[in-house]
Amino acid sequence: MVIQQISQIARAFFSTNVLLTSGSPPRPGEISQAHHGVLFLDEFPEFARSALEALREPLETGTITIARAARRAEFPARFQLIAAMNPCPCGYLGSTLKACRCTPDQISRYQGKLSGPLLDRIDLHIEVPAVSAQQLIDAPAGESTASIRTRVVAAREFALQRQGSPNQALQAGAIDKHAALDDAARKFVYNAAAKLGWSARSTHRALKVARTVADLAGAESVGVVHVAEAVQYRRALRN
Ligand SMILES: [Zn+2]
Repeated sequence: MVIQQISQIARAFFSTNVLLTSGSPPRPGEISQAHHGVLFLDEFPEFARSALEALREPLETGTITIARAARRAEFPARFQLIAAMNPCPCGYLGSTLKACRCTPDQISRYQGKLSGPLLDRIDLHIEVPAVSAQQLIDAPAGESTASIRTRVVAAREFALQRQGSPNQALQAGAIDKHAALDDAARKFVYNAAAKLGWSARSTHRALKVARTVADLAGAESVGVVHVAEAVQYRRALRN
């Protein structure tokens, strides 16, 4: 897998923006160069709003259209987006190690740099609490990457055998069919979507994550426990 490092990414956005406004003919920026790889963006809210919003199209369609004057070109851009950010400008909101110095207004302005439609397109939002040096040093080694990979490959195979495509590629009708929610799970999703004000896109994406959680557990149908886990992955920054 190609890991696009942050310095390259910063240049990627500059070149993409340049492509949007000048330069001829249009050529692929580094968003396209991350095609079938990983696009890692650190300090996510620090990117220009226009650059962040430009991610919406490839996240949805796997392509990016560069339109400039009379020229228009479409480039492949199906990447795995991984983005990291602090919870607030000082970085200590919710930390047990140090007090946050930010005002509520600063925090909401910082988190508000990521629009709802952009967050809708990010499937897993995970809060990673800061750990002390002692915790870091004393913690036992986690599960090995090789063993996690084995589980992931098996879950993907499970999905392919059921529906002929990975879960992320399922469209609306197929999601309902293959998610195979039991009654309790269905009710749980309805309640969560209403309470958290989810768009149709958010709801469908959460169902695909729930289907994947069930596949990792080797479950034929999606139950409350799988749906509840999926809901947890879509709650950060929405309180
Ligand atoms: Zn802070």
